[in-house]
Amino acid sequence: MTAKAVEVPSILTVRELAELIDASPIEVIKELMSNGIMASINQQIDYDTAALIIAEMGYEPAPVRLAEPEEDEDARVTAAWRRVYEKEAAKDLVSRPAIVAVLGHVDHGKTSLLDVIRHTNVQAGEYGGITQHIGAYQVQHNGQKITFLDTPGHEAFTAMRARGAQGADVAILVVAADDGIMPQTREAIAHAQAAKVPIIVAVNKIDLPSANLERVKQQLAEIGLVPDEWDGDTLVVPVSAKLQAGLEDLLEAIILVTDGMDITANPKAPASGTVLEGELDPRRGVLATLLVQNGTLKVGDVIVAGLACGKIRAMFDERGKRVKQAEPSTPVQVMGLDEVPVAGELFEKAENDRTARAIVQERLVAAEEAAAQPGPAFTLEDAFERFMAGETKELNLIIKSDVQGTLEPITKSLNDLKVSDLKVNILHAETGSITDSDVMLASASDAIILGFQVPVDPAAQRRADSEGVDIRTYNIIYKLIEDVEQALQGMLAPVYEDVRIGMAEVRQVFHIRRVGQVAGSYVRDGEIRRGAKARVVRNRQPLQGDSKISSLKRFEEDVREVRAGFECGIGLDNFNDFQEGDIIECYVTQRVT
Ligand code: GDP
Repeated sequence: MTAKAVEVPSILTVRELAELIDASPIEVIKELMSNGIMASINQQIDYDTAALIIAEMGYEPAPVRLAEPEEDEDARVTAAWRRVYEKEAAKDLVSRPAIVAVLGHVDHGKTSLLDVIRHTNVQAGEYGGITQHIGAYQVQHNGQKITFLDTPGHEAFTAMRARGAQGADVAILVVAADDGIMPQTREAIAHAQAAKVPIIVAVNKIDLPSANLERVKQQLAEIGLVPDEWDGDTLVVPVSAKLQAGLEDLLEAIILVTDGMDITANPKAPASGTVLEGELDPRRGVLATLLVQNGTLKVGDVIVAGLACGKIRAMFDERGKRVKQAEPSTPVQVMGLDEVPVAGELFEKAENDRTARAIVQERLVAAEEAAAQPGPAFTLEDAFERFMAGETKELNLIIKSDVQGTLEPITKSLNDLKVSDLKVNILHAETGSITDSDVMLASASDAIILGFQVPVDPAAQRRADSEGVDIRTYNIIYKLIEDVEQALQGMLAPVYEDVRIGMAEVRQVFHIRRVGQVAGSYVRDGEIRRGAKARVVRNRQPLQGDSKISSLKRFEEDVREVRAGFECGIGLDNFNDFQEGDIIECYVTQRVT
């Protein structure tokens, strides 16, 4: 049998190489290592190196042909273009306004604070007092702009991170001076720390007689946020939203903290960012607030936001004033999308309408595929694979336990675990049930939730199922520790098995020039899916090793799947020996839980 030909681009990452030959990245990394090349999963390698590895793994490498355009031409061009852009971009980076999120315990005054900051600023501004809540706003302080996310609380902030956007550059942690640090304050800190954004503490309600600023500072110091006047790194600013006091100091603190940070973007890049809000306005149609995070968004741009797309017909700033363009860190309300986009979703500029629709189509397909493969996206079993693949050296964990008396020994034992240079990183440890907020944090940070003698809230379970978060609960402490240790050592290897999803009978064999054999078949049960594994069975004997369904057509049209009772044309990778009466069995690989 001749080796299977694989087209290899002139430069590609280890991961892309593994995908080309249907191998795991680890196999490829091992093969590279045995050739004296140390490369991590996202590292780029050149054609010669890739060709060497491919040949050793039993395939025949060939440079990518620049042949007739294929269906994923757009995607390939975009990817190539991105690589060029990333190199170009560095020199075009300029500073942009910092993006600030306001977090804290319920009723500590987040909304009031956001309102007064906006209000005082707008009164001083040029367009009178009319403002609308569109999800974010900008203020000026000493000639510098600051962008505030106008949705208080860590939910919005973490939802952005879960979809791959950096939610904010700085977090303002609001703590009421009379109430002090409360459970959601600690939760908010965990969210900010997991996102690696600096925290500025606004101690609010200092107008109240029961306010106790010193006590709050003491509590902050106890949980590691040592106030700067006590020689720590945390700026603590006393404020009162009610009396509009301390606001200038707070803005000053933001400037101070962000001055030392590298807050930049490339205004020349194609626009991208995050959807902050979306609604259907009875008069104006779909309205969406977008936070531009890179590039410059212009009226007339075609954008894709999750599953929505369209050409921007008009754009408004937070004061309802028409604008033609929006630079990085600017929130704008836009008209022209075909559907209401989901808040938190990323948006990006597309080349044109056709590309935009193609991207949405791809996403629909990907979503379908993801839905068809149940189970968490990242489990404890996957941890070792990630370590090996060089993606991470840390295992992010969220620990919930019944009482303080069990929480401490668990976190201590886990912190002490270290297997070679792999270690655990505890993002949040708290007593109480596993909540929706825990799952959001896990989803945004690729963390695993470990519960010890605690229930999982129903809402948390639903989110975990939909976002693929691994929740594990235990009744025995050593079992919990042991599982984590084994994950670090790679002993909790995941188990996969092939599951048959359908079969078809070959009724007629066609020879098609340049394509090879196509089996005109009738699907007898289940379904036949393009891209799935296939086995050909003749007289009850399997004929060859595994192959892949490389083409699937109904009449002239490419289709993704064909169900029982229908006829179709099936082409297999690497197999050109069909006979009438053969059975084609279709398989998918599933993780066994
Ligand atoms: P959030 O849940 O954190 O957004 O809190 P809100 O902004 O809704 O405020 C909760 C309550 O605290 C409201 O009744 C506010 O009027 C009150 N409040 C907010 N800021 C202050 C303040 O600086 N001083 C006083 N006395 N009350 C405040």
